[in-house]
Order: sequence, then structure tokens, then C-alpha cells
Amino acid sequence: MNTVPTGRFAPSPTGRMHLGNVFAALMSWLSARSKGGRWILRIEDLDPGRSRPEYARQIEEDLLWLGLDWDEGGTDGTGCHGPYVQSLRGDIYARYFDALHARGVVYPCNCTRADIMATQAPHRSDGAVVYAGTCRPAAGARYDTSRLERQHSWRIQVPDSGITVDDMVAGKVTFNLAREMGDTVVRRSDGAWAYQLAVAVDDALMGVTEVVRGCDLLPSAALQTHILRQLDLPVPRYGHLPLLTDSTGRRLSKRDASLAMDALRREFSAGALVGRIAYAAGLRPTPEPVSPRALAVGFDLAALAGKQTIAVI
Ligand code: GLU
Repeated sequence: MNTVPTGRFAPSPTGRMHLGNVFAALMSWLSARSKGGRWILRIEDLDPGRSRPEYARQIEEDLLWLGLDWDEGGTDGTGCHGPYVQSLRGDIYARYFDALHARGVVYPCNCTRADIMATQAPHRSDGAVVYAGTCRPAAGARYDTSRLERQHSWRIQVPDSGITVDDMVAGKVTFNLAREMGDTVVRRSDGAWAYQLAVAVDDALMGVTEVVRGCDLLPSAALQTHILRQLDLPVPRYGHLPLLTDSTGRRLSKRDASLAMDALRREFSAGALVGRIAYAAGLRPTPEPVSPRALAVGFDLAALAGKQTIAVI
């Protein structure tokens, strides 16, 4: 069992970082560093259509500009838990997928997106898509092997009972995965490994003890907990950050070009940007420039506990 506090930042290299990524990276780095811990940079390039190596290198350059250094990982893959680029870890995911298969908790699914939409309850206000379990084999039965002849995805069965995430920021939150998500894809029909399996396995194998990231991934923490339990792998602590808003309380848009790193770097020095975020998050009384290293002294993620939003601009 890993006793060194270990955090990580796991960007998808599909574009330039924006303010939301900077906030997540900074809070994750501070949480690990304030405990004398380690920080890993993992490149999540599982989506071959959208990921590009040059974006990964740009993210590294932006992190170093901010003053956020990592002990392991990155595109050159320094460290003993590599490779740290997910597209190079397919054999590892295959091994853990086989373990789930041997346990009988995954099954092939032929449903198209249109099929899934057609089975949706008509009034889900949050727009979430819940898989109705159309291809799920009956309890105790084996899946229909005729499905294996066609292109199909693989889904993991999720329980119709509560899974509680004891989140460092959001507190204790219980999810019923069957009702809120449904059985979830762990391998796509094009053979690509799905985010949920890859992230759960990587965090465990890389010795990550704390996952600090945006609140949009809080339900995923329950699913990742479920996957890790099925694999008898350790579950990290999770800390899901409040949503960033503008001064009127409106959620920041990833598409707002003024919040992308190139614009932020034109407008701010690294210290000024970090100081501004720290002030908005209530970590400092004034928006003076500050280095991440100085901010790490006495930092505690619990300072954000209970906040649902942070007005940052
Ligand atoms: N790769 C994901 C993203 O960039 C983050 C995954 C995670 O932090 O678990 O949105």
C-alpha cells in the first residue's frame, strides 16, 4: 500500500488548457505538495480522433509556466509506473478487462446511440443518458454469444444500490449507479478502451492516493469506486472542486477564447494568475501574485469544502 500522498493531473490532450484545467491542476498540485506528496502527470489520449501529441506538449509547457512540476509521467514518461500516456497502456487495460470478464460482470452490447435514446425516460431534466440494460443478461445467465459476431461494445454491470463517495470537498455523496448511469461502457465498439476503466485502473496502478478534479466527474467517482472494488484494487480519496463561474454566477464556457491559456498568458504573469485564482477560491485575502510553492504552505483542500461555485472572473 502506497503511503506517500500522491496526486495526479490527467488532462486529455484535445486542445489548449483553459481556466478550469488550470484550477484543477493547481488544486491537485497544492493538495499533494502541501502534504510533502508526489504529483503525476498522465496523458489521457484514449480518443484517437481528438487527441494530439502537440497538445500534450503544450499542456506540459503551460504547467511548467504556472510553476506546477511533476515527479512522474508526462510525454517522456519518467518514473516507475509508466507508460504514462494512456494510448500506450492498452495491454494493461486488456488484462484488467479480462479480470472483469472472468468475474462475469461485463457483457457485450449491440445498442446504438439511437436505441439507447429511444429507451430514455422522457423527462430527465439533467439530460443524463441512463442505459436501460437492454443487452444485460438475466441474473445468473451468461450473455448471448451470438452478439460477439458483430461489432459491439462491452458494458460493466452496476449495482442498484448506493455507493457512497466520501469526497474531500463535496462531503459524503451517495449514488445509485443503476438509476443514475446504468451499465456503462468499458470498451467501445471500435475497440478503444473507455475512460472509466482506464482512469480507475491507472489511478490504482500508479499509486494515486488522491484524485482532485472538476465536480463534473463526481458521479464518475462512484463508478470508478465500483470498478476498483470489482478488481480488488485500492480506491483513492476523491476531491471534486466547485464549479467556476463568472461574477454573475454563470458557468464558465470552455469555448470562451479569453479563458484559454494563450489569452490568459497574454493577460497575466503566472504569479498573478495563481494569485487571482487563490483569492477567488478564498485561499488568500487579496488577489496579490503568489507562487504555487508559497501557496502550498498550510494549504488544505478542506478550505473549499461546502462551496458549490467559485466566481473567478
Ligand atoms: N481526462 C479527463 C479530462 O481531461 C480528466 C479525467 C480525470 O481527472 O479523472 O477531462
